[in-house]
Amino acid sequence: MPDIHAAAEALRARGFEAHCFDTAAQAAAYLLEDMPAGQTVAIGGCMTAREMNLDAQLREAGHAVLWHWDVPHAERHAVLHEAMNAPLYVTSVNAMTTDGLMLNIDGTGNRVAAMCYGPETVYILVGRNKLVEGGYQQAVRRVKQVACPQNARRLSLDTPCANGPCDVSACKKPMCNVIVSLEHPLTGHRICVMLIDEDLGY
Ligand code: SF4
Repeated sequence: MPDIHAAAEALRARGFEAHCFDTAAQAAAYLLEDMPAGQTVAIGGCMTAREMNLDAQLREAGHAVLWHWDVPHAERHAVLHEAMNAPLYVTSVNAMTTDGLMLNIDGTGNRVAAMCYGPETVYILVGRNKLVEGGYQQAVRRVKQVACPQNARRLSLDTPCANGPCDVSACKKPMCNVIVSLEHPLTGHRICVMLIDEDLGY
């Protein structure tokens, strides 16, 4: 299993802010302490945040939370747009290489867009299960072989990867419409990566 502390060093060498936590509870406590009081927090599609029950903790601490997962379908589009202008954004990654590349897929594009432009502070939660040895191609492999299949089954999507290997030619409604690799912090943004020594999300 790759070491989160070595990965944090690689992230810092790339210019990212990186912190390590033994548990998700410790990571949540850091977030609540670090976020300015009362600021709105948007959350991208993020099973890690769901498993951490982060939205409830943020609301309890007095933050307004924008999360398209938690609103009626009719409000979803508006919330996605509002989230792009939130001061704080929380998301995870689908894969992170031990040398500090962070890869995310997106079907709609909201999450990768917000990570790159919009919110001034982006918190990225990375469970140890997201770390991969090797480079970009290994990370893409994790995305296609681990993240996509589990998401497809969660959402009951009829994609080839839900029940077998990826087959692009037979995939009528892919969720991996875009893959973004963060290599360095975006200019003018604070990107705070929080590595957690637990398995979280997919
Ligand atoms: S292209 Fe389709 S089958 Fe392949 S990983 Fe993406 S969603 Fe799954």
